[in-house]
Amino acid sequence: MNFDINSILRDNIKNLVPYSSARDEFKGEASVFLDANENSYGSPLETAYNRYPDPLQWEVKKRLSEIKGVPPQNIFLGNGSDEAIDILFRAFCRPGVDNVITVPPTYGMYEVSANINDVAIKKVPLTPDYQLNLEGIAEAIDANTRMIFICSPNNPTGNSINREDVETVLANFPGLVVIDEAYINYSRQKTFIQELTEYSNLVILQTLSKAWGLAALRVGMAFASEEIIEVFNKVKPPYNINQASQELALEALKNIDQVNDWIKETIREREKLVGNLHSLPFVLKIYPSDANFILVKTTDANGIYNFLVERGIIVRNRTKVELCEGSLRITVGTPSENEILVNTLKSFQS
Ligand SMILES: *Cc1c(COP(=O)(O)O)cnc(C)c1O
Repeated sequence: MNFDINSILRDNIKNLVPYSSARDEFKGEASVFLDANENSYGSPLETAYNRYPDPLQWEVKKRLSEIKGVPPQNIFLGNGSDEAIDILFRAFCRPGVDNVITVPPTYGMYEVSANINDVAIKKVPLTPDYQLNLEGIAEAIDANTRMIFICSPNNPTGNSINREDVETVLANFPGLVVIDEAYINYSRQKTFIQELTEYSNLVILQTLSKAWGLAALRVGMAFASEEIIEVFNKVKPPYNINQASQELALEALKNIDQVNDWIKETIREREKLVGNLHSLPFVLKIYPSDANFILVKTTDANGIYNFLVERGIIVRNRTKVELCEGSLRITVGTPSENEILVNTLKSFQS
């Protein structure tokens, strides 16, 4: 399979002259900046936010490059991974013409973003053990299929997708294979980042919203070939990551030891939670998890969900999702939160 980005890039994006900001047109050292119509006097805050931020967030990318072992030019930062997903649709899928493949049950944003962009979705459900249906995927691909979304570890099921299966898709599909690794920090599987040199059709999504504890800052990452990253940069709004988020992300990225400690504790707590929930009579099955949540199949998902809500405990009810009937998705909390959850569930009468 020979991947050619120009065979899937929309013509309007190929021909696009991107917005050129004041910060793009002058990049050197200077002392008087009168080029961007900012307030030259300052901001009504202790920290000065009157200057536009770096459009390409090089400081943050350099730090991420050290952590992830990938050159900064192979990194895109978005206002959450959701921005990266939306840009992929806008750059590579012709509305009303092209389609993408999703493998449900999976993260809901791929479908929402497809719908917003008027791009058809072909759904190839996972197998009953939540792995790829490779034959089904091969059959679903047609001349207008532009992308396949694979979430691993998968949300809401929690399991990792078999690596060899993902590689089969990567090696045979002539469009983009988007691997969403939002939960990779909790996984026993290694990231696909090291495979970027091998597969030019690979896009990996990660985020600072989960293990890094920065959901409110809205910083998502995409890793891909330089030519794909250039497309992201051409299409994105000029200043898509604000200055406060850039500064705080950079600061947070220094605390990797703290994050690694939380990851270990979360995994310990996850296993403890699994052990405690197993003994409850209304729990039918707990799916193996490589993430910071577990999917729990019960005899009465709606009953348990409402029972918990009445007691101020919110979990995610996934019972209406295909292949998740009867299931609740439960995020691993702190030790005391998990204890409250388990003790409360012990008083549920099924
Ligand atoms: C939480 C999550 C994200 C993160 O989205 P952000 O916009 O970066 O907060 C992405 N993908 C999946 C599968 C998720 O569960």
